[in-house]
Amino acid sequence: MTKQEYSFETQLLHNKHKFDPNTGAVSVPVQYASTFHQPSVDKFGKFDYSRSLNPTREALEDIIADMEGGSRGLAFSSGMAAISTAFLLLSQGDHVVVTEDVYGGTFRMVTQVLTRFGIEHTFVDMTNLEEVKAAIQPNTKVLYVETPSNPLLKVTDIEAISTIAKGIGAWTFVDNTFMTPYLQRPLDLGADIVLHSATKFLGGHSDTLSGLAVVKDEELGKQLYALQNSFGAVLGVQDAWLVMRGIKTLSVRMNQSQESAKQIATYLENHPLITNVHFPGLENHPQYEIHSRQADGPGAVLSFEIENEDFFKEFVNHVELPVFAVSLGGVESILSYPAKMSHAAMPVSERQKRGISNTLLRLSVGLESPEDIINDFSNALELASRHLIKE
Ligand SMILES: *Cc1c(COP(=O)(O)O)cnc(C)c1O
Repeated sequence: MTKQEYSFETQLLHNKHKFDPNTGAVSVPVQYASTFHQPSVDKFGKFDYSRSLNPTREALEDIIADMEGGSRGLAFSSGMAAISTAFLLLSQGDHVVVTEDVYGGTFRMVTQVLTRFGIEHTFVDMTNLEEVKAAIQPNTKVLYVETPSNPLLKVTDIEAISTIAKGIGAWTFVDNTFMTPYLQRPLDLGADIVLHSATKFLGGHSDTLSGLAVVKDEELGKQLYALQNSFGAVLGVQDAWLVMRGIKTLSVRMNQSQESAKQIATYLENHPLITNVHFPGLENHPQYEIHSRQADGPGAVLSFEIENEDFFKEFVNHVELPVFAVSLGGVESILSYPAKMSHAAMPVSERQKRGISNTLLRLSVGLESPEDIINDFSNALELASRHLIKE
């Protein structure tokens, strides 16, 4: 059986880094060296300095490239370092079209940093292809997609956007953090660069910050590598190892969390105090069809709105199981408050325009028993109602 015939799950474990060829160790060695001895004046080895290439980081870069079906992977010190480095492919006078409910850090990069370098942007609702086409300018170089989006889980048709981009000679960047390549492979759908905050599901344990970028086109890979080496926001070796460790259990974690997310979303949808549930696994999700076509599952992140701000505060005060924190994709469930956390970098007016209300909560479902989470939510909603009735 050749490698190509193994399933994705099997390749998470049995890839070319399953053991170290020098020692047989079944874990990639963590190579702390910053520099590498060279054999002679006219003969340099493969490795010279760890910003340019490091064997531990390279193993992770190989693994993510294979997982995404790309030709080259690059690992960065955070998701934002990967995203920002990809934007350095642009030059003064260029323009990007960005999905409007983009991750808060990406919003900040586009609106506060790229603008200072003369790179323009237009935010659009990417679920509306006409709006995307209308935003295109002669200097548009990138269509920037996040799907499902954060925190409203809106779904963009990656293939349709890639086709529009190709038609105007622009690149398509896709932030694939919420899905991971286990559920969605944007390069196969025509995207040029896939970006990840590996801090989330790929790392999976809320214990490391990391970012990844993958390309299919070799020339684009060389350009992005040159920027990684120039800008220098590379991933450290210990973190690279932690992400590789996390990736080994990606499929089992995703399967479990995703099944629980479906149950929790259905529970919330039927609760009278919950006004809206955003989850691409619900058949009434506006882009359910598109998502089912381009991804192998809805993932494990959902968001929901509570009837009013008083209930909302009481609910958060009484919920016990999930950690109340920024971030997602951990083994523990994480409840977060986009208006004050991931999207705090966005002005109130922009948040409201995008439908990120003050009673919206985002839940990243971990590996707990879904019944326990549902019971916890039930109790918290019950206590919230009683408390408010007393007042
Ligand atoms: C967290 C996140 C990022 C940023 O990644 P960091 O690792 O925190 O720098 C980018 N995009 C999405 C969708 C994220 O959730």
